[in-house]
Amino acid sequence: MNDRHDTELAPDGASSPTRRPPRWRAWLAPLGAAALLLLKFGSKLKFLIVPLLKFFPLVLKTGGTMVLSIVAYATVWGVWFAVGFVLLIFVHELGHLLAARKCGLKVGAPVFIPFMGAFIALKDAPRDAWIEAQVGIGGPLLGALGAAVCEGIHLATGEPLFRALAYTGFFLNLFNLTPVGFLDGGRIVTALSPWLWLVGFAVLVAMTVAHPNFLLVMILLLSLPRLWFLLRPKSEAERRYFEVAPGRRLAMGALYFGLIAALVGGMHVSHIPREHLARAEASVNAASAAVETVPSAAP
Ligand SMILES: [Zn+2]
Repeated sequence: MNDRHDTELAPDGASSPTRRPPRWRAWLAPLGAAALLLLKFGSKLKFLIVPLLKFFPLVLKTGGTMVLSIVAYATVWGVWFAVGFVLLIFVHELGHLLAARKCGLKVGAPVFIPFMGAFIALKDAPRDAWIEAQVGIGGPLLGALGAAVCEGIHLATGEPLFRALAYTGFFLNLFNLTPVGFLDGGRIVTALSPWLWLVGFAVLVAMTVAHPNFLLVMILLLSLPRLWFLLRPKSEAERRYFEVAPGRRLAMGALYFGLIAALVGGMHVSHIPREHLARAEASVNAASAAVETVPSAAP
């Protein structure tokens, strides 16, 4: 999920992302009006809605700058960044694979789709929401660990490439935790409450409005069947699929929201400020210039 951002966001990369006219504002106005109406009639909802209204534009804006950072990293480190990026996706998929095996499901090897990511093919469908959630969280759990290892390598060696990879890994795994459709988050919340799909869908719609692109629209379209499933009448077997023991539900909830918090924290720690990135770029350029002069110095 990187190339499409190149084409869409690269033109802004040179300028400050904060100067961009915020498109979310037009979208936020009617939502704000609706929220005000709600406030009038349901003062109890106030505690929920006011922080959301404050927080949401921030998420959308930083969502764009996160992608800009990753595009900038790719321009500085080129092929080495790409290698690390693919490895991070591989570690994430390995997490799903291990979790699926642990649950006794037959799985195929990870399949990579260029610029979209990767997936593992389950040869057995999960029997219930609990198993689906475990397979779903396996990827982001191991993926977060992989990103943390990158940050550890950076702290040990001072090599900024690993910090860039850590940030990217934290971001990718966080995005995948959006509770919608076939994203990992959508699978995890089957064991919490499928109604969280509505929250994920709203977040995704907001992201798509703020930064329209093909991948987000695809994810939205592919999440529609599950939304329809929420609303339509369900058979007894379908209802049983979502039954999860309260203890397990609590454990999965703690793991899911804890992981989100850890990933946000990880991104905060591993973010490279612009001026530091410029320094890293200069040193990478100097290093590659030195490599180029070595063979030409020899006869
Ligand atoms: Zn995944």
